[in-house]
Amino acid sequence: MPTSRDIIDDALRLGFIDIRAARVEPVDHASAAMFEQWIADQRHGSMDYLARYADVRRNPALLLEGARTILVAAINYYRHPSPDDPAIALYASGDDYHTVVRERLESLAETIRQRFGGETRVCVDTAPLRERYWSAQSGLGFIGLNNQLIIPGAGSYFFLGEILSTVEFEADQPLNRTCCRCRKCIAACPGGALKPDGSIDARKCLSYLTIEHRGALPEGTDLKGHLYGCDVCQQVCPHNADARHTDEPCFALRDSYRKLSLRYIAEQMTQEEFSTTFRGSAIKRTKFEGLQRNAKSILDSK
Ligand code: SF4
Ligand code: SF4
Repeated sequence: MPTSRDIIDDALRLGFIDIRAARVEPVDHASAAMFEQWIADQRHGSMDYLARYADVRRNPALLLEGARTILVAAINYYRHPSPDDPAIALYASGDDYHTVVRERLESLAETIRQRFGGETRVCVDTAPLRERYWSAQSGLGFIGLNNQLIIPGAGSYFFLGEILSTVEFEADQPLNRTCCRCRKCIAACPGGALKPDGSIDARKCLSYLTIEHRGALPEGTDLKGHLYGCDVCQQVCPHNADARHTDEPCFALRDSYRKLSLRYIAEQMTQEEFSTTFRGSAIKRTKFEGLQRNAKSILDSK
């Protein structure tokens, strides 16, 4: 039976820092129930897609007929921030990870098919798959109180992607550990979204509000200077103390972003310019109206 170590060199060559295998089986009852209660409590805000395909989210076998293994891979996007950076989350500095990670995983999936046979399906945040749950199940890392997957010795600034395979790989073991529970993320969270029980209320999270929320921001929202996304709960986490700069030029901060002022975005940017500036970037997710709304909100709160 193949193991994740049989494909680690291929994964490393493609820029991943690790890849681990989990057996395809239904999500454990407690975790499924917790997620479904989170949805029932409306803590997912307007991210209605999270409430859809509950059966698939509970059972990833429904994503690929005959699936036996979920391989989870991680790629580093961390870069050392500089004082003149725009207020956007680090993950959105360069090219859209959906495209970058998918291309690389498709290449890895082809290698797997050639070497071990079977069918594969690549998922990069686009399928109803409990990504962090499977990352933890595979032993790639563990989930911190900040709701991020933490990779021991490497931190949490990673894009994740999965390959479902009909080939049975030997399952790696979950790490069976927790973060150091310092609660710095809970104390520092600018939206008060993180709870001591490890849950998150997305409706209060500035990442959700600046990216996913459509229309006017809820009354009283203070974006605290965050234009797109928020990294605070990762910045304060001691597990990120040794985060290493990514080797990937495609995740470097685009020069054009440095020239963008809040005032310019709020008052002068056009739809066309938005589309050109953020072509191939994850920032398009918030749409022109969203980015303008965020910039205006920050200016109004000053
Ligand atoms: S991304 Fe920001 S607002 Fe959201 S939970 Fe983390 S620290 Fe809080
Ligand atoms: S900041 Fe502390 S409590 Fe929060 S995830 Fe990191 S180690 Fe855990």
